[in-house]
Amino acid sequence: MSWTDLARNGRILVVDDAMENIQILHHALRDEHEVLFALDGEKALELALEQQPDLILLDAVMPGMDGYAVCAALRASPRLQDIPVIFVTALSQPEDETRALEAGAVDFISKPFNVAVVRARVRSQLTIKRQADAMRELSMTDGLTGVANRRSFNDTLDAEWRRCARAGLPLSVIMIDIDHFKLYNDHYGHQAGDLCLQQVSAAMARCASRPQDMLARYGGEEFILLLPQEAADGAEVVARRILDEVGRLAVPHAASTTAPHVTVSLGVCTVLPPLDGTDANALIRLADKQLYLAKQGGRNRHCTTLAA
Ligand code: GH3
Ligand code: MG
Ligand code: MG
Repeated sequence: MSWTDLARNGRILVVDDAMENIQILHHALRDEHEVLFALDGEKALELALEQQPDLILLDAVMPGMDGYAVCAALRASPRLQDIPVIFVTALSQPEDETRALEAGAVDFISKPFNVAVVRARVRSQLTIKRQADAMRELSMTDGLTGVANRRSFNDTLDAEWRRCARAGLPLSVIMIDIDHFKLYNDHYGHQAGDLCLQQVSAAMARCASRPQDMLARYGGEEFILLLPQEAADGAEVVARRILDEVGRLAVPHAASTTAPHVTVSLGVCTVLPPLDGTDANALIRLADKQLYLAKQGGRNRHCTTLAA
């Protein structure tokens, strides 16, 4: 994607209590961007949550919740904190600008403004936002397989653990390890090994498709699947599905002593509510132990336990 593409076709939320100002900005931006608007702070926050704009143009002085309060609320919300805010306001003193920047705004434009300058500043903030999004995405993804990496898994596990604990829900994890993968590399070469990792991870990703499920590469040829809200029977179904799906790939593995094709072993562990008797690390250790038992038991199978 080119530099100019990054700056175009953004979704921009304009917040101003004067319809006239909204119309001017809408007119200035509509050729390049999708423009949404809100006439007060509360509506702006609602709309931002719903529509996830790429940028917010925010008036400072509004009845009720003013721009500074809106900005603070955005910064405090995990789902909104990465949306950049440009203040567009009749205030023009250096202290107004400082206050806006301190509240978390990325830029400050005084009214009356020049339309070309607004367009240019919007483009530049969109470019920065898109680059930041791409960096964040990269930093959370495993480069080879495209699934989440371990760091991103740990963050999500923490968040989901707390959410399930609050809501009184169960949570399951499945630890997955490719069988005889060293032999696979030795026999077919490292590049074929990489391809195999991609195929197996794609097959496993197909097995757990609820929005809150997360497959991650935990290390080397080891993967982990997080199944929030899933009790033991559900996790069991997913584990069997993974064994089936990887088997159906039928990736030849002539060096394996388990099967003529690539197989995986799985360790499943479920924690039932309330979740305060144990912690996320203990859950992973237990799943890992079950994985070890599955290996010992002959591989190409799963073993399951409940966290006490
Ligand atoms: P087991 O059935 O007991 O799991 O045996 P294994 O051979 O799969 O386990 P072991 O831990 O001995 O070997 C793991 C192998 O995975 C060794 C390593 O070279 C390979 N591996 C790890 N990461 C990658 C990778 O990114 N690409 C490739 N091609 N191989 C990898
Ligand atoms: Mg292995
Ligand atoms: Mg291993």
